[in-house]
Amino acid sequence: MTSAYVEIMETVEKLRKDLEELYENVKKEQTLTPECPFCRKREAFTIQDSTDLNTPRGAPTKYRVVCDAIKDGCGGSTGWKENIEEAVEIWSRPKRFFSS
Ligand SMILES: [Zn+2]
Repeated sequence: MTSAYVEIMETVEKLRKDLEELYENVKKEQTLTPECPFCRKREAFTIQDSTDLNTPRGAPTKYRVVCDAIKDGCGGSTGWKENIEEAVEIWSRPKRFFSS
């Protein structure tokens, strides 16, 4: 075996490990993203803040989670909440109805 061959095989092994690690992280991230209580999709999970919309000047910023239709979600959303944590918490609750 030439040293070039050994070197290549070491590089391949390193890349394989990196890829495995990346895959693990992606899997972890997917399970961390709560699923939509309406359609169970995780991929469309989006946090919006009210400054994105035409809110009255000086109104406090509010936040909501939406199942973004642009990302092929169902458009379901929480109501506007004081902070991101609250919106995500409501979104993550066991499946139930909630009003806006
Ligand atoms: Zn949805």
